[in-house]
Amino acid sequence: MSHAKQSIGIAGAGLLGRLIAWRLLRQGHSVVLFDRGPENGTQAAAWTAAGMVAPLSEAVVSDRSVYEMGRYALRQWPHWVKQLASNRRPLWQFNGSLVVAHPQDDTELTQFYRDLHHATGDTHGYQWLTRPAIRALEPDLSDQFQRGLLLENEGHLDNRALFAALGDALRELGGHCVFDCEVELESGLIHTPSGPRRFDQVIDCRGMGAKSGFPELRGVRGEILQVQTRDLTLSRPIRLMHPRYQLYVVPKPDHHFVIGATQIESEDRSPMSLQSSLELSSALYTLAPAFSEARIVEQSVNLRPALPDNNPRITSEDRLLRVNGLFRHGYLLAPAVVDQVVAMTEGSADTEFAHSLLMHCSRKTSDDRSQPQQRAG
Ligand SMILES: Cc1cc2nc3c(=O)[nH]c(=O)nc-3n(C[C@H](O)[C@H](O)[C@H](O)COP(=O)(O)OP(=O)(O)OC[C@H]3O[C@@H](n4cnc5c(N)ncnc54)[C@H](O)[C@@H]3O)c2cc1C
Repeated sequence: MSHAKQSIGIAGAGLLGRLIAWRLLRQGHSVVLFDRGPENGTQAAAWTAAGMVAPLSEAVVSDRSVYEMGRYALRQWPHWVKQLASNRRPLWQFNGSLVVAHPQDDTELTQFYRDLHHATGDTHGYQWLTRPAIRALEPDLSDQFQRGLLLENEGHLDNRALFAALGDALRELGGHCVFDCEVELESGLIHTPSGPRRFDQVIDCRGMGAKSGFPELRGVRGEILQVQTRDLTLSRPIRLMHPRYQLYVVPKPDHHFVIGATQIESEDRSPMSLQSSLELSSALYTLAPAFSEARIVEQSVNLRPALPDNNPRITSEDRLLRVNGLFRHGYLLAPAVVDQVVAMTEGSADTEFAHSLLMHCSRKTSDDRSQPQQRAG
């Protein structure tokens, strides 16, 4: 079905803003994307993130809808990555992830398995591994892990390369990006420091910068370490179950590893605390002693944008869509959320996840322009 082409202004060039701009440009709309930060996206939570697409791991701590949207993401990301056709390096890896616990914490692993079974309702997509099987898959891990859970249906993205690839795609498709430009929004209008810009539709993707549109929005502090070492190789994300803190290590290109992440109910963006740094690095060392000579190349802090129920939401008013609350699941939820936003922008029918995503829609027609159909929910 062909849709009327619209001029669309998007505030926020983080994960959602870049993806929505790209999808809408591909549909033939004209798009201007604004961000208060620089072009490489370093201010976005999505830049700091580990880039895991982990529906099984997240199922145990989230609503069922998050799990379902995550399964959708596993289908959608490979297509999107193919369309981006990045020449840089592979953006998407689908090798699963491995969950382990030290022998003294084995009950944590058992509990995780039970929770996973309860949350997903089946045993599909994950399996127990024996110690030799762990060694065969990840020979550089410490040999003290007696058993582990392989979560086969999980993937991860090279999120920083994805950001760059999206930037290239936006330019190639004729999108206009305005960086270092803080904006405010109202129906059909984006206020920039050099004056207001009028659009057929405005989409608010400002993450933590969107409290004016989502007053209950809160930031959840996350800290990560990034290390580099040539002394070991991991083929997939590894999660360590521990009674006090949980840690993951995600392999990145050029022998880099992202270790994360703390989850602290605070909007403090100050640098990583000594305690967090010690906990993350000592847990890392117990995963594989070869990490001891790794070089710490980055310590980053950012805020996950969360709503009270920790689920994502889309709200719609006249010529203004707001989308937020992706919390700790940005890459996991983005395909479902982005597809719904694109459908609403074009006035198409609801997508598979519309009911879970729409919080409040009011429809006020301020002129005789044909307005997208929006669903109350
Ligand atoms: C440590 C950490 C690890 C994470 N790991 C994962 C993971 O492994 N998997 C996963 O699925 N999710 C993960 N996440 C969550 C994920 O990063 C977020 O859910 C996601 O980035 C939210 O996307 P967003 O587009 O809403 O916000 P963001 O990515 O934060 O983008 C918002 C953008 O809006 C811009 N902006 C804000 N205010 C204004 C303004 N007034 N004017 C102009 N621009 C503005 C900002 O500069 C920013 O670029 C992690 C998050 C953190 C912090």
